[in-house]
Amino acid sequence: MESNFLKIISLFLIILSISFLQPSPALGARITDVRYWSAPDHTRIVIDLTEPIQYETFLQENPPQFHLELKGTSIHTSKKEMDVKDPLVTKISLIELGKNKVKLILHQKRALSANTFTLKPYQDKSHRLVIDLIDVAQEKKEIEERQKQKEIKPKGTKIVVIDPGHGGEDPGAIGPQKTMEKDIVLKMGEKVVHLLNQNKEIQAFLTRKGDYFIPLEGRIKIAREYGADLFISLHADGSFNPKARGSSVYCLSLSGATDEAAKILADKENTSNILGGASLRPVAFAKDPNLSQILLDLMQSNSMKESFQFAETLLEDIQTVNPLKYPSYRQANFIVLKAPDIPSVLVELAFITNREDERLLNRPDFQEKMTKTLNATIKKYFGL
Ligand SMILES: [Zn+2]
Repeated sequence: MESNFLKIISLFLIILSISFLQPSPALGARITDVRYWSAPDHTRIVIDLTEPIQYETFLQENPPQFHLELKGTSIHTSKKEMDVKDPLVTKISLIELGKNKVKLILHQKRALSANTFTLKPYQDKSHRLVIDLIDVAQEKKEIEERQKQKEIKPKGTKIVVIDPGHGGEDPGAIGPQKTMEKDIVLKMGEKVVHLLNQNKEIQAFLTRKGDYFIPLEGRIKIAREYGADLFISLHADGSFNPKARGSSVYCLSLSGATDEAAKILADKENTSNILGGASLRPVAFAKDPNLSQILLDLMQSNSMKESFQFAETLLEDIQTVNPLKYPSYRQANFIVLKAPDIPSVLVELAFITNREDERLLNRPDFQEKMTKTLNATIKKYFGL
């Protein structure tokens, strides 16, 4: 017994002395990773850092490049030269300038405007430096194209906007087989939009068409630009309890959540803005100056009534595909459901953290059944 005790003590001392012998880490921040995400109108570059940093930026005109100098920083990633497959950027370079200075160069295909900001550590994310290189003309074109849809649509046509949750830096919930919520909901969203567009009386669009992040308010803005008659945000639930499973439907509440579980879920979905990296650049979600608050409140309560009706029908239909987590819709303060003039629901298709549900979410036959159900419910809701 005693000799074992001595062995443990001496082992402990050896480990302790080894940790003292380790060279002290270099002072300042270390760059540990570089990622990029391509959206139709911008490219987002994300730099992972071990500490907060100071930086200086400037845009070079010819050739078009974005330069950023980081002080008190060293490179600890192999991604020093990174080719970018993207419509806006060709390459990302990290150059050690000596004296703990690092230069980041973003090689652009054409002149772009830049929006740079930092994000503090959150959950498993470290300090992040984010650079959005924006094609302002393309951004404007996208908005105009969306706004045109409601003007050119034939009379009686209903517009549905499907919002695949999360994206880019925000993977959403992750399953035991590493299935990411952001990927599953994008795939399902594409399928629903495809099905909906088979109906002559419906035009359906996605808020995001790839693996990039849109702030929650930005998703509402897109739906409003399209003049949506219905907005559906698609998600896959996550829980620490691997046994939790089933589908659920959520609506907005302006006065507290149905219960603690609904509140926790809304809080979790709302942190998407922090994980995905909503910039400080305000989303132009301007209130129409012609609308009085009274009219806005009336519109909101009408949209909410419509949302409840849609949610009830959807629950009835969805239970033929997957067991329900709750028999009725739940309510909480979801940012993404706050459009005052569009009936909006959030659907948790299944629990990605449950082995069986994750398997189902990946199965084409389940995806087909689920998307067909959504299509049928939407048609029923519009009386088509
Ligand atoms: Zn989600």
